[in-house]
Amino acid sequence: MKYLVVGGSGYIGSHMVKHLLRAGHEVVVADTAAADPGIEWVELDIANAHALDTLFGDCHFDAVFHFASFIQVGESVSDPGKYYQNNVAATLTLLNAMVRAGIRHLIFSSTAAVYGDPQYVPIDEQHPKAPINPYGRSKWMVEQILQDFDRAYGLKSVCLRYFNAAGADPDGLLGECHEPETHLIPLILQAAAGRREAITVFGHDYDTPDGSCIRDYVHVADLASAHELAVEYLSKGGTTTAFNLGNGLGFSVQQVIDTARDVTGRQINVVEAARRDGDPARLVADATRARLVLGWQPRFDSLEQIVRHAWEWELQYPWR
Ligand code: UDP
Repeated sequence: MKYLVVGGSGYIGSHMVKHLLRAGHEVVVADTAAADPGIEWVELDIANAHALDTLFGDCHFDAVFHFASFIQVGESVSDPGKYYQNNVAATLTLLNAMVRAGIRHLIFSSTAAVYGDPQYVPIDEQHPKAPINPYGRSKWMVEQILQDFDRAYGLKSVCLRYFNAAGADPDGLLGECHEPETHLIPLILQAAAGRREAITVFGHDYDTPDGSCIRDYVHVADLASAHELAVEYLSKGGTTTAFNLGNGLGFSVQQVIDTARDVTGRQINVVEAARRDGDPARLVADATRARLVLGWQPRFDSLEQIVRHAWEWELQYPWR
């Protein structure tokens, strides 16, 4: 198959590209940032309809994977225009170009943030969608647009609602590198490596056993395998739908820090701070549907493995 990976130079997108190439597919990356050497890369912003039409005129794609979005909850609150412009308006430009070009299959990166404050955990796909910040709303808007695009134009899509994407390539070739970094595991490991003074724990008075927030960490390589299964599902005639992607296991911020101490053998200084706005106490996936319908089998379902791969990547930092 020939696939376009939009946002294929980013954290999850680059793991996806590696996974697809390894499975023998042809892959083109469309991104404003360069892809790794040896990967076919088109410098392209999906807000540019003309550039998309040119690309789709030159190449036929069997499906598009769309990873290109802004992901910081706090920034989405302070600058919602940026989030709705990129995550919704630019995505709409991409979808319209796909319809014009007759590309009928899309795999879309969605998020547990579409659910908002959980009414129950683990969260299944039927849970009410009530996002509590512009980031979550932007993803839920696209999910709804995709349902309309299926009804009107026959564009079939799978929305994959990630819980906490984490870890790094088990071969050590790829890893997480956001600028600025806001995610828990890389920040803890930077503290372990001495690249920052301490890890700040946001909130120690939640209604959880140790008072810190509980999240469901899912390995980025397992996310990639779920995407491949999702595109196969569409190619076999699957209908437009959404799946949660998580391990169904919740770990507190404190447990992640303890695991990182064990894995790294390093001292990790902790600073306690106030809660971060918009953080629910507990987000844990019920990902039964992805297992049943897609046959998804996460390979790295232990926090220790996730942290170990991220640490192996962190240790390469000076050479990046
Ligand atoms: N967190 C924290 N300190 C940090 C970054 C994150 O305590 O420096 C907490 C955050 O409040 C949340 C969990 O770690 O409960 C995971 O946060 P992250 O930003 O990695 O992912 P999110 O849950 O926002 O997608």
